[in-house]
Amino acid sequence: MPEKPGKLVVVSGPSGVGKSTVVREVIAACAGRLRLSVSATTRPPRPGERDGTDYHFLSDAEFRRRREAGEFLECVEVFGRGHWYGTLWDEVRSSLATGKWVLLEIDVDGAADVLRQFPEAVTIFIRPDSLEELERRLRSRRTESEEAIRRRLAVARHELQVAARYEFQVENVTVPEAVRSICEILRSRGLSDD
Ligand code: 5GP
Repeated sequence: MPEKPGKLVVVSGPSGVGKSTVVREVIAACAGRLRLSVSATTRPPRPGERDGTDYHFLSDAEFRRRREAGEFLECVEVFGRGHWYGTLWDEVRSSLATGKWVLLEIDVDGAADVLRQFPEAVTIFIRPDSLEELERRLRSRRTESEEAIRRRLAVARHELQVAARYEFQVENVTVPEAVRSICEILRSRGLSDD
């Protein structure tokens, strides 16, 4: 009997909202049924980030080559003149075909592009409790310049405005609560329990 194809789950939210932690725990909670798509990016790795696990870190030339070869399901230049990010077809195609669900942690423009191609994708937006809290978290990371923080906050304001397009909104008050809400949403959309 042919396998029922998997679904895409798109998770977005402002940078610094704690998305990556929540997403990592959701993947662990749904092990075997939901896998994380590893995006490609041209931005340099942060301390501790590993190639192939956190991102596929590509040079500008390699990213362009793969974009022109049609290897991306979606890709965007995030933060204006900054870096490129994108989802590789290779990360999603075979999983979907074998009935696995794939989670994409991507920005709002990439999400709109995915929805055009996969209207049945589940879309979830993780909100900060407030912009002030978000600013505090971005500063506490101490990995970025003042200019980069200001740029990320400007993008966050824009993202919060388009958040209404997402089917589900989850407030990241505590990580366990956000993880529980997301697992509940996925079950309600048909992700099996076993
Ligand atoms: P960061 O540089 O903090 O890892 O990520 C910056 C932003 O890029 C985040 O909003 C993240 O969701 C977004 N992003 C990461 N991977 C992708 C991707 O493959 N496609 C798109 N469109 N956005 C991505």
